[in-house]
Amino acid sequence: MKRAVILLSGGLDSAVTLWLAKSEGYELFTLSFDYGQRHKKELEAAAEITKVAGVKEHRLVTINMDQWGGSSLTDKNMEVEDGDVNRTDIPVTYVPARNMVFLSIAASYAEAIDAQNIFIGVSQVDYSGYVDCRESFIKAMENAINQGTVMAAEKNRPITIHAPFIYKTKTEEIKTGAKLGVPFGLTWSCYRGGEKPCGTCDSCLLRAKAFQEAGVVDEGITETGERK
Ligand SMILES: [Zn+2]
Repeated sequence: MKRAVILLSGGLDSAVTLWLAKSEGYELFTLSFDYGQRHKKELEAAAEITKVAGVKEHRLVTINMDQWGGSSLTDKNMEVEDGDVNRTDIPVTYVPARNMVFLSIAASYAEAIDAQNIFIGVSQVDYSGYVDCRESFIKAMENAINQGTVMAAEKNRPITIHAPFIYKTKTEEIKTGAKLGVPFGLTWSCYRGGEKPCGTCDSCLLRAKAFQEAGVVDEGITETGERK
């Protein structure tokens, strides 16, 4: 059975990506990171998601990126700013080189278990302008991985990074997820990580807008905006 490592944050994008890989018949190996993010809600969500997705193995790797901070998601002295879906600059929630770090570790895991596929749920269309969500970066990483792993460079078993939503909007992604039966209610998107989603950060705003546009009910949220 072909194996895939899926980066699973516990958010919406990675959950839909996981179900897509599942629908394509991969044996599923999920990878989550405790990178010093300001709350553990996403990681709890990831663990719950793996239980219903039928994954073969779930790994949690700790990397203390909060030691140097540089992002409102890892530096508790910084505020998570209110969101703006029309923003064009890079928000302070950008975590320096996060996806480069994650994909490097995913490559190590993939090589160790002889998986030739890595899935990541990034999009360069309507998210927050993060440079490490662009196809040019994904292709460059794939190239680096295939130069830097024995399985690819010496054994003719190259690794492919799948970013199935790279040119999809979040709305399209939700429609796909609805068809695949993704348990949206288990996913967590809010940057702030309170008892319930704040409804005002970038991530909450993008999620709400996309569900509305997709015509799909966000089963994680009640009519008054509270998490069930
Ligand atoms: Zn929020």
